[in-house]
Amino acid sequence: MMGTIVCQTCLNTIEHFEDEKVSVLFSNCCDCEDEVEIDD
Ligand SMILES: [Zn+2]
Repeated sequence: MMGTIVCQTCLNTIEHFEDEKVSVLFSNCCDCEDEVEIDD
């Protein structure tokens, strides 16, 4: 399965990663640049 990291500011897809299930995590891309801790 594949997870996706999406920028919470501009909603661009940042990257994909292997995961046990399909999931979406929110972060910020290098353009928006705010570091956010993801707790999962
Ligand atoms: Zn962004």
